[in-house]
Amino acid sequence: MAGERISAIPVRPAIAYHSAPALPSMLTLEKFSIGVGDRFAHQAKAQLRACQLVARDGAEVVPVWNKSNREHTFVGSEPESVLLAARAAVQALDWPGGWHVDADHIRLETVERFLPHSDFFTIDVADSIGQPAAPEAVTAFVDRHPELIGTISIPQIAAPFTTTRAEIERLAGKFLLAVQDAGKIYRHIAEKKGADRLIAEVSMDETDTPQTPPELLVILAALADEKVPVQTIAPKFTGRFNKGVDYVGDLAQFEREFHDDLAVIAHAIARYGLPANLKLSVHSGSDKFSLYPIIRRTLPKFGAGLHLKTAGTTWLEELIGLAEAGGEGLAFAKEIYVGAIGHVDEFCAPYASVIDIDKAKLPTAEEVNGWTSAQFTGALRHDQQHPLFNSSFRQLLHVSFKLAAKAGQRYLDLLVANEEIVGKNVTENLYVRHLKPLFIG
Ligand SMILES: [Zn+2]
Repeated sequence: MAGERISAIPVRPAIAYHSAPALPSMLTLEKFSIGVGDRFAHQAKAQLRACQLVARDGAEVVPVWNKSNREHTFVGSEPESVLLAARAAVQALDWPGGWHVDADHIRLETVERFLPHSDFFTIDVADSIGQPAAPEAVTAFVDRHPELIGTISIPQIAAPFTTTRAEIERLAGKFLLAVQDAGKIYRHIAEKKGADRLIAEVSMDETDTPQTPPELLVILAALADEKVPVQTIAPKFTGRFNKGVDYVGDLAQFEREFHDDLAVIAHAIARYGLPANLKLSVHSGSDKFSLYPIIRRTLPKFGAGLHLKTAGTTWLEELIGLAEAGGEGLAFAKEIYVGAIGHVDEFCAPYASVIDIDKAKLPTAEEVNGWTSAQFTGALRHDQQHPLFNSSFRQLLHVSFKLAAKAGQRYLDLLVANEEIVGKNVTENLYVRHLKPLFIG
């Protein structure tokens, strides 16, 4: 967190071009970081324990607790609660490493209440993509960047990009307004907080079409022009990143794209003087297990870092822990499902583009009411080899956290009463299924 461990380090690019704008000094994000979500603010310690375990294995991965404005609104919480829970966990476990609190997917309209309690800001400009920038701004951008026109050879990319002025104009037209927005939001935060007390991420993942590596290059050139010291960037990758389940898409294509994005980032750091630690942020929607081996073997080719953002599955581990505990805990888990099955369309609507539920595979309330602990956890826990695993069941519960929020204190009391078994599931999930495969192998 800002000021607690890391002092601000002015960033100098390896090769400074005379055209590179001077970037403000900033709080520096560590090379490897994991974004974790803790909707009900009871699992920070269990999550931090997973970072301790992977540190023991030899990988320094710092936790970044993230919660979006939308989640705060759904759950009825305030950004301060995330900071307090994180700080308490860091103190309780005597965590010597870095840690941060991410104001996730904020915009100018939503950032204010996060300012005192976050040091990491995910500046979401996806909605501005495709909205036209001023024609003069587009022309000025293209005039300023003759290097983007023609043949662009980038180390480690097999075939050079070939572009025309018209194409760069089209891309600038598509992305420039979004980048200008990022600049506006960044400057607002920097002015209120101090540029050296914040980490800036720019996210473009919540949009319909993926950004190609040449598009990423244009975006990064424009961010440098805007003097946004971006340390992580979250493009939209090809394929489906559904909530809480594995990647659906072409793995070979993802690997090419991920590789070329890393090459573009390394090139942009040198060419445009962006922060030397700029890295990709993968907004995973949690559990993109099939991508982890690809990411693990590609990062070292560039000496690149990574921010992996996971989110809502901690809540599922809470449910798994309660179900495993049996008794009142299992009864509560069943009650949530029974409530959810009565509101499938309503709960799924806000997430329509990031879930794929086969309604025919959803068990009835009567069936689930007859389940044992092992049947419930077998269906819910993300073990694709388990004969009872049911991804439709899992996805429905994933989006039904509002029911737990509605249960309020009764739910929180159950979490406290079952702290050990719930925490064990939270830690194990993060360590065994995410951190270890991604950073250790
Ligand atoms: Zn995202």
